[in-house]
Amino acid sequence: MPINLKTAVVETREQRLGTIIGWDGKASDLSHESAYARGGCASKCGPKARRICELRGPFTQGSICSEQMVECQAGNVRDAVLIQHSPIGCGAGQVIYNSIFRNGLAMRGLPVQNLHLISTNLREKDMVFGGIAKLEQTIRDAWERHHPKAIFIGTSCATGIIGDDVESVATALEAELGIPVIPLHCEGFKSKHWSTGFDATQHGILRQIVRKNPEKKQEDLVNVINLWGSDVFSPILGELGLRVNYVVDMATVDELAQMSEAAATVGFCYTLSSYLAAGLEQEFGVPEVKAPMPYGFAGTDAWLREIARVTNREGKAEDYIRNEHARVKPKLAELREKLKGKKGYVATGSAYAHGLIGVLRELGVEVDGSLVFHHDPVYDSQDPREDSLAHLIDQYGEVDNFTVGNRQQYQFFALLQRVKPDFIIIRHNGLAPLAARLGIPAIPLGDEHHAVGYQGMLNLGESILDVLAHKKYHQDLAAHTKLPYKKWWLDQKDPFLFARSV
Ligand code: SF4
Repeated sequence: MPINLKTAVVETREQRLGTIIGWDGKASDLSHESAYARGGCASKCGPKARRICELRGPFTQGSICSEQMVECQAGNVRDAVLIQHSPIGCGAGQVIYNSIFRNGLAMRGLPVQNLHLISTNLREKDMVFGGIAKLEQTIRDAWERHHPKAIFIGTSCATGIIGDDVESVATALEAELGIPVIPLHCEGFKSKHWSTGFDATQHGILRQIVRKNPEKKQEDLVNVINLWGSDVFSPILGELGLRVNYVVDMATVDELAQMSEAAATVGFCYTLSSYLAAGLEQEFGVPEVKAPMPYGFAGTDAWLREIARVTNREGKAEDYIRNEHARVKPKLAELREKLKGKKGYVATGSAYAHGLIGVLRELGVEVDGSLVFHHDPVYDSQDPREDSLAHLIDQYGEVDNFTVGNRQQYQFFALLQRVKPDFIIIRHNGLAPLAARLGIPAIPLGDEHHAVGYQGMLNLGESILDVLAHKKYHQDLAAHTKLPYKKWWLDQKDPFLFARSV
């Protein structure tokens, strides 16, 4: 079984999927090395991780970790509390996550509130004598202060090193308080990629929150695994007579519990949804919609048709597809005219980038380079219909300079120099200032649903026109700033020079 809920500790992405964080070449070569939809691998590799030859650098300039992904998922459940069992420094992201959470609630029309995150503030003495008493006290404090419907406990490098028995205290307090108290094992050093933190959160939710043996089924309910994006899925799925259950961010504990009652599960990005969707199907019989993601005409058509097939709504889907093609195509033609000759670059999470490049190609924008922050050779379902990289190549063609890298500034300079784009699309904005200093404006996709579906193509086209209007400002920035790197490094053509020489 691909998902193992018997243990409290999630298997890392590299263990389950063969995830890599360093690779450089043509997209088609990566697709073949992944041996996913390209066939032949299942018999050789079995259900476990694929093996891709990975470029491994000698250092990491800066990154994020699994624990932070737990913060931005488990920490965003509206009526739960997340305890960070960690030194206070692991909580440095709370400020920015709080503003993202509040913005997301406002965009969704939900009551705006602050995050409920508490750090156990482990110090040197706790590293010697253990931090379990602090954890126990913090769980009680969380209960007294907030009376939450669930308490999540995120572990950290520090607790992984000292080996605090988080399970025992969670089990005891769960019995005493009568709410789920859920350990999430997300020590930052344990996995080389932060997306394991998504899986750690989803693992805990599958084990301890999702309702087992539900008495009723909600035949018109679809779980949509997402982050904080605007509500674009309700109008789309509403056309098919379906309701949306948004999870994990900004959901309530009860909305998480009812996932087992839904008719199907979808996501906006397989990087985020892979584990939870596969777990819901395996453990609770909720079908995961196995189709390309909803980007561009081909992906959105196929995605809608598969949802319709799974929920028995085929006729409604065909009407919607026909109407939307007729509505969007003339507007898309106008945008293509305006964007003729423009070149874009996508630097985002992995599966999401596959979808966005497809949308850019629908808009007639040239894309000959992309940086994805990691690569999963396969997703948890192992189903080739989810092979988002193969879908991109088959529908929209090659990407000549396709790079896998965990967001390293020093590499990004050479990547952009290779293709010299007119603009970049980015999530995790840390790389955008470097692009700005090269005169390249960035579209920071804060609303991750911006490019979803038929309307998403028009949305993204308009955003590109907006950002190109700032080009002169960025050229002025480039003329008056300099980069913090030596000329020797800036002259190098290979962003993975250090990885190839170790
Ligand atoms: S869990 Fe580890 S890697 Fe993550 S923020 Fe804390 S110390 Fe850093």
